[in-house]
Amino acid sequence: MLIRGRLFAPAPRGNVLIEVSGDRVTAIEPVASDAPAPAGALGGPDSVITPGFIDVQVNGAFGQDFSDPSADVALVSRGLAAFGVTAYVATVITSPLERYPAVLDHLAAASSGPDGARLLGVHLEGPFLSPRQPGTHTPTWLREPSIELVNGWLDRAPVRIMTLAPELPGALELVRALVARDVVVSLGHTDASWDQAAAAASAGARMGTHLFNGMRHFDHHHPSVVNFLLSSDLAVGVIADGVHVDRRVLDLVSRMASPDRLVVVTDALAGLGMPEGDFRLAGVELVSDGVVGRRRDGTLSGSLLPLDHAISDLITAGMDPEQAFRAVTVNPARVLGLDGSMGSVAVGRTADLVILDPGWRSSVTIVGGQVAYAGIR
Ligand code: ZN
Repeated sequence: MLIRGRLFAPAPRGNVLIEVSGDRVTAIEPVASDAPAPAGALGGPDSVITPGFIDVQVNGAFGQDFSDPSADVALVSRGLAAFGVTAYVATVITSPLERYPAVLDHLAAASSGPDGARLLGVHLEGPFLSPRQPGTHTPTWLREPSIELVNGWLDRAPVRIMTLAPELPGALELVRALVARDVVVSLGHTDASWDQAAAAASAGARMGTHLFNGMRHFDHHHPSVVNFLLSSDLAVGVIADGVHVDRRVLDLVSRMASPDRLVVVTDALAGLGMPEGDFRLAGVELVSDGVVGRRRDGTLSGSLLPLDHAISDLITAGMDPEQAFRAVTVNPARVLGLDGSMGSVAVGRTADLVILDPGWRSSVTIVGGQVAYAGIR
């Protein structure tokens, strides 16, 4: 397979011809900017090539909700490839305790097909979250941290990330227990002060979940978890649909957290890739307006903007393309400890690639050297 385009690896590498053999990138040759694509090659002089996008917060899509043990995971994996996503972490939001075993067993057994995005594991968002910052999480299902409960869940499924509120009783002990089992701890749905957030970082927390949303606000007299995340060396997850965070604020965050700490997530819901209207999240009815999902009372619940659209919008609004691409490739790969195998394009690496059209949207997605999506949307 040959691919012609302008490469962001994610650092800009200019015009290239990439050769893929089997599941690997086997050559990257510079070419003239006006060099046409060889016969049979994918892409062309107007195309942009990037590493495959990695989304660490996907609650579901295409009518499927990962908090439901009957979700069709393969359907989601195939569908996400259309948005440039080559790997993702299935996110389970706060659910009744009795539902966790079936949900985790289901996700542990689900293997994405060869024609879809890779399922990298599970992101548990809750139930150890602040009742003061529940967002769309059902308050009566929230719990105080329990290492015993978590150990049972970790034995069932490959949990990669856990979002928790560090100010809850027993939270720091849980952070240490999770870190010892190679789970990334992310601070979210939290009313923490700067000091409480800093204590969690000292205990091993590595990330913040959807900065600003579900967090005590930025305060210049009494610095909060938001202030800490912006000032620290932790990764910062943001929902980049322009609704969860105003684009002007996102621009400020990107200046503070780029190049290495910014992680753009979709926080996608079952309504992603579906018509506007009603759908469900952990059994709760939501409404889609095509960009975000909300509870009936108006509470923001997650996003419905495809990841490649979010990246396209960021670049069109003025973000440096390399910074935007880093936020969905090498940065999330590093958070997961997978930057040695994914998140960048290099000879010898697995060929997880996206070809973008001149509008920065995905036109071809390649997973493991196989075309997982090719088309015009
Ligand atoms: Zn959330």
